[in-house]
Amino acid sequence: MDLKNYIAAVENFPKEGILFRDITPLMLDGEAYKYAADQFSQFAKEKGATLIVGPEARGFIFGCPVAVNLGIGFAPVRKPGKLPRESVTVSYDLEYGSNSLSLHSDAVKPGDKVVIIDDLLATGGTMNAAIQLVEKLGGEVVGLAFLIELDDLKGRELLKGYDVKTLIHY
Ligand code: IMP
Repeated sequence: MDLKNYIAAVENFPKEGILFRDITPLMLDGEAYKYAADQFSQFAKEKGATLIVGPEARGFIFGCPVAVNLGIGFAPVRKPGKLPRESVTVSYDLEYGSNSLSLHSDAVKPGDKVVIIDDLLATGGTMNAAIQLVEKLGGEVVGLAFLIELDDLKGRELLKGYDVKTLIHY
């Protein structure tokens, strides 16, 4: 199945000059959504995942079906102030300013084999922060999965040493 047929390109969103890849048409098509979830599930199963982690909000869309498919847990990575209990937080630099992400401290058990799933790999900053959160809590990151990778931004270089699976390249 050619998943590219289900991704819409939106010019100048959310800002002038940005070409936004919109994944919502893929989610609207039951067959395409299931195909993507099954590909991720197969990857996570091969990696022996015991936990799926996904950054808000589109990491939930692809991470949760995988956790349900495999009968394992899902832990959300969220912006600070959103998680109600004790959490770990990391900050990372953006082109302008910085961002922080948090994960509940009890979400990852030492020795957990974690696959982190997000919709899109651009610079890799978001995924790198999610990796740091999991590793802070003693989890082993066994794989990273994305629906889309923007090859020109070379996010993969920031994720060197990790097994990266991507379903669509631009
Ligand atoms: P990075 O941290 O630079 O790799 O950016 C990846 C994050 O930004 C992911 O969590 C994506 O959801 C989001 N993102 C960046 N560009 C796009 C896009 O074109 N479509 C959808 N999400 C995007």
